[in-house]
Amino acid sequence: MHGDHIYGLPGLLASIGLAGSSSGIELYGPAPLKNFIDSCLYNSSSRLAYSLKFHKVENAAMNKQILFEDSGLEVKTAPLKHRIPSFAYRVNQKTRPGRFNLEKAKLKKIPPGPIYGALQRGEEVRLEDGRSFSGREFCGPPRPGVSMVYCTDTLYTESAIELSRDADLLIHESTYSQKENEMAYERGHSTATMAAKVAAKANVNKLILTHLSPRYTPANETSPNDLLNEAKAIFPNTQLAKDFLQIDVKKRCNSS
Ligand SMILES: [Zn+2]
Repeated sequence: MHGDHIYGLPGLLASIGLAGSSSGIELYGPAPLKNFIDSCLYNSSSRLAYSLKFHKVENAAMNKQILFEDSGLEVKTAPLKHRIPSFAYRVNQKTRPGRFNLEKAKLKKIPPGPIYGALQRGEEVRLEDGRSFSGREFCGPPRPGVSMVYCTDTLYTESAIELSRDADLLIHESTYSQKENEMAYERGHSTATMAAKVAAKANVNKLILTHLSPRYTPANETSPNDLLNEAKAIFPNTQLAKDFLQIDVKKRCNSS
């Protein structure tokens, strides 16, 4: 619930309302989030043109229940260690059907249309000309989904390791350098070393460091690159986050 994580949210919700593109939004977060958003909207006389529904995450985090699930994704959450209640989130993509071999279907002169969809789902189809095919002939092996964990504000904690176990990508806060280890404990934040230890112990594929203290500018005695190197000494496959960074989340087997 600290400002650096939620102050942008009322503006985003208002912009979505102005764009007129939403039929409703469901927000998942700590219990006080509802009060914060409601009072922001009320005190700025803002009315959203769509419905807003809040889901508290505390119960799912404490009882290790699934927080959200649909046909493609599953989201889990865990409590972190900060001065106020704080949570980590894990998004697991579900296994997807194998890739459909369109060329093969065309070569067999199967007419395009809903039949392709049925073949893609692995079903048996019978054509008008009497030939029948199994979808399995046209699909590659099922593709395992990727998984991503985001640890927001936290000191080094076992629950982050547990939630991050074997994840393809871990995004972990890294507020301080190892030199500020004491300050990290005082303020309930992680050093780059702590983030890297979580990544190594959880056996994740890749670590991204974010939430660096603004004190680390490239011109200062300690720079973001120093934090990166501290982490890399423990967990080599580490990268620094930056605004608008995009990365492909890959399974370990086909990553470079
Ligand atoms: Zn923060």
